[in-house]
Amino acid sequence: MQLYNTLSAEERAIMIDDAGKQRLTLSFYAYAQIQNPTQFRNELFLAWNPLEVLGRIYVASEGINAQLSLPADNFYAFKDCIEAYDFMKGIRLNIAVEQDDHSFLKLTVKVRDKIVADGLVDETFDVTNIGIHLKAKEFNELLEDPNTIVVDMRNHYESEIGHFTKAIKPDVDTFRESLPIIEEQLSEHKQDKKLLMYCTGGIRCEKASAYFKHKGFENVYQLEGGIIEYTRQVKAEGLESKFIGKNFVFDHRLGERITDDIVSQCHQCGKPCDVHTNCVNEGCHLLFIQCEECKTAMEGCCSAECVSVIHLPEDEQKAIRRGIKNGNMIFKKGKSDVLTFKNNEETHGVFVAEKSKKAVKKELKVKKIYIGKGTHFFPKPSIGQFLIEENEIKIGDKILIKGSTTGEQEMTIENMFVNEIAAEKAIFGDTCTFKLPFRIRLSDKLYKILD
Ligand SMILES: [Zn+2]
Ligand SMILES: [Zn+2]
Repeated sequence: MQLYNTLSAEERAIMIDDAGKQRLTLSFYAYAQIQNPTQFRNELFLAWNPLEVLGRIYVASEGINAQLSLPADNFYAFKDCIEAYDFMKGIRLNIAVEQDDHSFLKLTVKVRDKIVADGLVDETFDVTNIGIHLKAKEFNELLEDPNTIVVDMRNHYESEIGHFTKAIKPDVDTFRESLPIIEEQLSEHKQDKKLLMYCTGGIRCEKASAYFKHKGFENVYQLEGGIIEYTRQVKAEGLESKFIGKNFVFDHRLGERITDDIVSQCHQCGKPCDVHTNCVNEGCHLLFIQCEECKTAMEGCCSAECVSVIHLPEDEQKAIRRGIKNGNMIFKKGKSDVLTFKNNEETHGVFVAEKSKKAVKKELKVKKIYIGKGTHFFPKPSIGQFLIEENEIKIGDKILIKGSTTGEQEMTIENMFVNEIAAEKAIFGDTCTFKLPFRIRLSDKLYKILD
């Protein structure tokens, strides 16, 4: 009895192409009480594997959360399969707008503590006491209500590339972090405002709405079926899409285009772009936004450091990776100081997005670019040494040195030594030293301030 995958991703991709069948990408979730999640997991795997289902499925005692693809021909057989379980009878299957035969290349069914990592330990509230479900048309109408506050319940890397106009987008890595932030920001409005929530497929709002009702919010609404179902209804009913940009998805596409608006920018050069990628250095794998030009220039890497790593022999790379376990943390790593244009300092807490074009313009106003990091400090002569990792600096440049102990120190470079010789300019790979009126720490960040 085969309970796990035996084929590699490459073999799968070839098999899918050879089979020549059109595939459907879909997602669904259901809260339920499952007595034996491991047994349930095995049943699903055995039933779905012959139907050529591929995807990422989480099973827990609280229910199931599935994102998958399958041959269109097997759709009804699959539906019968899941409807054999009472709690999935009549379940809404969210079918993706864009179809891609390679959206998933493996069938992974995992048993977890929760179907969504919500981290909610407060079990005192009633998770079935949820907010009012809204269809696309109703959601659009409520968005226009001046008493409405719209909150994006997703993470920073999701809301960055696409969101509802006027939405509050908490700058959080996880769903768990967003709840107290939102509660605090909106604490004055528990009675008088309408709290309108949305997420990718509706699953996060299901719990969040119960949480906020428990916390005393009186008017709680949620987008039924999330952005995925909203988009389907918008198309089917010819409504205006008030969601702009791309919907982040967890398959290899990392996003599904909803409207032509580009609401984010390349994290390396700042030009409008909404294509996510993972740094090709396997020891890094940072999730970030990179345009085609930067992809070419940086060889798909997030930093000069990663570029140098990928040029090392494989066994040296492995040695570096040893002990670094990214696993499911990769999506949390979407923040890094090497990313010049990632808004990672200014937007802690929440901010309200303006219209898309305005937002892009605002973010394009560059203040500083990343140059490199501190590698040494010579206390006697008070000289700091830096490794240049990006861009360049020259005499006369205004710089910013930043670190947790150092704080933020601005100054102008008057003299410097590059690779131990007095020079005008330091470029990528150079070690440069100059006199400082303060002490720097290892790994302090060096930026060039732009006018
Ligand atoms: Zn770029
Ligand atoms: Zn990297």
